[in-house]
Amino acid sequence: MKVTPRCVVMHIREFQEMMRQLYYHKDSKRGFEKTFEWLVEEVAELGEALTGDRKTLENEFADVIAWLASLANVMDVDLEKAAITKYANKCPKCEKTPCQCPV
Ligand SMILES: [Zn+2]
Repeated sequence: MKVTPRCVVMHIREFQEMMRQLYYHKDSKRGFEKTFEWLVEEVAELGEALTGDRKTLENEFADVIAWLASLANVMDVDLEKAAITKYANKCPKCEKTPCQCPV
């Protein structure tokens, strides 16, 4: 059966686990500092892609979340738990939905 991205539904935790299976053997050897450097590089590439074509933009978003998950794996952080704990249906600063903080 061919699996297309459109039919894949995944929680953040499952994505992080997939990244662990794909890359943890390399991420753990590279260490947190170098892995963080890769994440920063990918964020910079995302910044450049903001004014580019859609396909490049989507690819750069994918790279950023992939490297974020890799770094979370190296640091033993559960991304889904961390994100949902902090952003539990309200802004963590003003505690409103939608956020009422000044822009
Ligand atoms: Zn707010």
